[in-house]
Amino acid sequence: MLHIAGRPSVNEAGDALVSEPDGALVVDDAGRIAYSGPFSEVPPDLAAATVVDRRGCLLLPGFVDAHIHFPQVYTTDAHGGGTLLSWLDRCVFPAEARFADAGFAREAAREFCAARIAAGTTAAMVFGSAFPVAQDALFEETARTGLRMVSGRGVQTRGPASASPLITSEGDAERSCRAEIARWHCADDPGRPDRAMLQVALVPRFALSVTPETLGWMGELHRQHHASGVYFHTHLSENDAPGVGEIDSVLRDFGTSSYLDTYDGRFGPGGEVAGESLLGRRSILAHAVHCSDSELDRVAAARASIAHCPTSQLFLGSGTMPWKRMAARGITVALGSDVGAGDEWLVSRVANDCFKVHMSASADRVVPLEPAALLFSATLAGARALDMEDAFGNLDAGKDADFLVVDPSAWPPLSRSIDAASGPAALAFAVMMALREPAIAEVFVRGRRVSVS
Ligand SMILES: [Zn+2]
Repeated sequence: MLHIAGRPSVNEAGDALVSEPDGALVVDDAGRIAYSGPFSEVPPDLAAATVVDRRGCLLLPGFVDAHIHFPQVYTTDAHGGGTLLSWLDRCVFPAEARFADAGFAREAAREFCAARIAAGTTAAMVFGSAFPVAQDALFEETARTGLRMVSGRGVQTRGPASASPLITSEGDAERSCRAEIARWHCADDPGRPDRAMLQVALVPRFALSVTPETLGWMGELHRQHHASGVYFHTHLSENDAPGVGEIDSVLRDFGTSSYLDTYDGRFGPGGEVAGESLLGRRSILAHAVHCSDSELDRVAAARASIAHCPTSQLFLGSGTMPWKRMAARGITVALGSDVGAGDEWLVSRVANDCFKVHMSASADRVVPLEPAALLFSATLAGARALDMEDAFGNLDAGKDADFLVVDPSAWPPLSRSIDAASGPAALAFAVMMALREPAIAEVFVRGRRVSVS
């Protein structure tokens, strides 16, 4: 058993790393962890449980993907020939338009959930399709497989010609967001945002896809549903290509001096307050590569989280998220695959890139991340970002049994790395760097094995 126990900060993860060479995980009938620790110390009242022997394997917490796009399931490794905006225009908008077809969307939902299971991603913040019919297919398939998910339709009320199939009127956008909340938010466990497997987010694609009017009604809708735990999810400050890039365009279009203003109710001219803020502890902002100190201070004050997507940032040349400045403010940073700008579904592979990009940063920004910090970012930090840390994220007793059975013998490079590792930190590093999908033998959510069939 290998996990980050308790509720540490990322800087405390090393002390919270638990490696139990002969571990036992006892799961009760409700799918909760009744005991987690050495096999030799299983309490007598639990000793009658059926023993499933997985000697030679590792038990890890399920991975949490804090940012992944459903309608880009077929868009990974698409050659856009440029940075973010040209890639969206040439590759993504046309691919996402296909999700208007219900049959196509159902097949895509099956492939999306299958890929999540293969990668051991038990919980995820899923950036949704523009089309309600596709979102229904995604929620239905997610419920059928038994995975956890927060998702919301990707709202676009303006954009280039290539995005026109994805663009709706303000009225249709607001109605479909309300309908999605009514149908799917806590659908499996009404009124329990602290534990429901299916939940809904309000998801404008990014500031360049919406108008001030959209941000106005969305802020009001977010305020109305704050108590019921509806999330907010979007992209922030990803790409700074000068003149033609995302950030310049946002500042020019809204007339603000800060990108974050658009999501923080300050989307009026000159950054004046024009509506409700969308920031809170159930807000996850993807990327945040080029934020100012004052923007990060506001993210921290709102207790919002960052989805860090290094694999995607490498692909689009977006830069490297400022790890030290996030950590200094205590901002929760969870990992996101950002499929399809990210071409790895496996969150530990994203952690592998995370290690490399921060090792390769310029001298004043280099961070040699600890192995436990990587495991933390791939698991417990994601649960914290989703405001669900009490329910899952590690193998502590009392939490839901969301875990992976990893069989190193199925992937010799992993097996060799583990054999060479000495001590818990080295083991954690070997797993985070060398794990690949073939070694993920079984995936459990709330004690139930999830599978495609
Ligand atoms: Zn994204």
